[in-house]
Amino acid sequence: MNIPKSIAIDGPASSGKSTIGLRLAERLGYLFFDTGIMYRAVTLAVIRAGINVEDENRVTQLARHVQIDVRPPTVADGRKEDVLLDGEDVTWAIREPEVEKWVSKVSAYAGVRKAMTELQRQIGKRGRVVMVGRDIGTVVMPDADLKIYLDASLEERARRRYLELVQRGEVVKFEDVLAGLKQRDQIDTSREVAPLKAAEDAVVLNTDGMNIEEVMKKVFELFEDCGNE
Ligand code: C5P
Repeated sequence: MNIPKSIAIDGPASSGKSTIGLRLAERLGYLFFDTGIMYRAVTLAVIRAGINVEDENRVTQLARHVQIDVRPPTVADGRKEDVLLDGEDVTWAIREPEVEKWVSKVSAYAGVRKAMTELQRQIGKRGRVVMVGRDIGTVVMPDADLKIYLDASLEERARRRYLELVQRGEVVKFEDVLAGLKQRDQIDTSREVAPLKAAEDAVVLNTDGMNIEEVMKKVFELFEDCGNE
């Protein structure tokens, strides 16, 4: 049996990648690595530094020098991990609407992607990892043992995201959540460098109408099938 050591999960925003990826990693005793965190942290650093998001050179410079750390959670407030930006806890700050508004713009810059991809590859090389993002199967770990592309309709993803935000106590409108996701999808799929798409050898899973347990069951079956090949 050839157990998959590196697992890539890609897909659009709110397709369930992080929830499923984390569960799978916990079940297997693998490292869970959510690459979206890095792009969010860079975006937050750009906003805090007062840099114009349109200024590709300055944004790229900052992305090269910023220190991002992701560690096991130290606070029991629903977080999956601690995210540190230059030593400061920004776990929730990177989830703020202002970051969501600009993150796709920042992550479309080639220099930003290069800096982040290098770090991600180093982590991927260690093996026993579930890495989630937009370009893991296509660019970051093209040799991953198992590649899954989680998809769901825009409406379904907006519903999930809306509920998540409301449960967190945020006051949001469903239409705004939907519009935000649509805009991010558009930028993520149409950018020149590493656009969001399924790798040719990825298994595409449409999760419309499925709950987390159902998706998890299917993903675990894929893991086992892959090991039996
Ligand atoms: O996955 P999450 O929604 O946290 O990602 C935030 C944004 O980071 C995405 O909309 C995308 O623009 C960017 N991203 C990316 N490549 C990745 C992960 C995230 O471009 N591997």
